[in-house]
Amino acid sequence: KGLKKYFDVTGGVFSKKVGEVKAVDDVSFTVYEKEVLGIVGESGCGKSTTGKALLRLTEPTDGQVLFEGKDITGLSEDAMRKMRRDMQIIFQDPYASLNPRHKVEKILGEPLIVHGIGDKEERRKKVREILEVVGLPGEHASRYPHQFSGGQRQRIGIARALIVNPKLIVCDEPVSALDVSIQSQILNLMEDLQEEFGLTYLFIAHDLSVVKHISDRIGVMYLGRMVELSDNEDLYDNPLHPYTKSLLSAVPNPDPDVKKERIILQGDVPSPSNPPSGCAFHTRCPEAMDVCKQVRPEFKEHSVNHFVACHLYDETVKN
Ligand code: SF4
Ligand code: MG
Repeated sequence: KGLKKYFDVTGGVFSKKVGEVKAVDDVSFTVYEKEVLGIVGESGCGKSTTGKALLRLTEPTDGQVLFEGKDITGLSEDAMRKMRRDMQIIFQDPYASLNPRHKVEKILGEPLIVHGIGDKEERRKKVREILEVVGLPGEHASRYPHQFSGGQRQRIGIARALIVNPKLIVCDEPVSALDVSIQSQILNLMEDLQEEFGLTYLFIAHDLSVVKHISDRIGVMYLGRMVELSDNEDLYDNPLHPYTKSLLSAVPNPDPDVKKERIILQGDVPSPSNPPSGCAFHTRCPEAMDVCKQVRPEFKEHSVNHFVACHLYDETVKN
């Protein structure tokens, strides 16, 4: 609710604050139990920061994070650590997120120790079980991360999140660092696990084609804000925001009879430390109007469960 994460920009010999990056700027949304909410946007749009702020792996500047109705933003470190048993994260880079000096046994056993789950023998057993669940042989527990391929390492990353029986998993671009040939294997695994264990995912990706099959709903972010949020099908069939339309036009359509025009946006994503006035997308929007430079569009429900922040859909805005 009203989630914000601002980072100070420092400069000069005394590292004085010279500015601010509004990485996440007033974002509100709900993730329903057992759903997959996809979050999509270009790098720097604030999607990873949003995911980390939900788990308080980065401290929100403002706003609330409610988990099962409970505001977790004020919890002590200790209480938060306990809470994280229910809220896990899978990182983008399986190379960087696994300690190269530790055997898989230790990597997967650690969360169990942190949460006080099982004795030594039970932990040993659980580690082997969870490896099988993610499609790796249990005896690989005695290996080191470098003895696995990228896809296998991400399976270990998934196992590490799964082993404590979480309810919510923030999946931060879990397939972006993998070869395209491996991506669908990992996506299929994650989809199966979600169903089998009744998991809830916040699934972050920079590409709409990645979240298409796995998501129940999809949110689109641009420069720290949510610009559109709707049911999966509705977003693909009836995109409202010009930015969503451009992202969708880049997704290849498997049906060769469907010809669609590729919408190429002008320019790069503006710097988040100096975002454009009004609608932050106006510098690249093919449909920008005068009002867009001055007035920031509100995030509003346009039709049932379909939210958008764009003046094109706001009848109160006169041009
Ligand atoms: Fe484009 Fe204006 Fe809508 Fe922003 S508010 S997306 S600039 S039409
Ligand atoms: Mg990211």
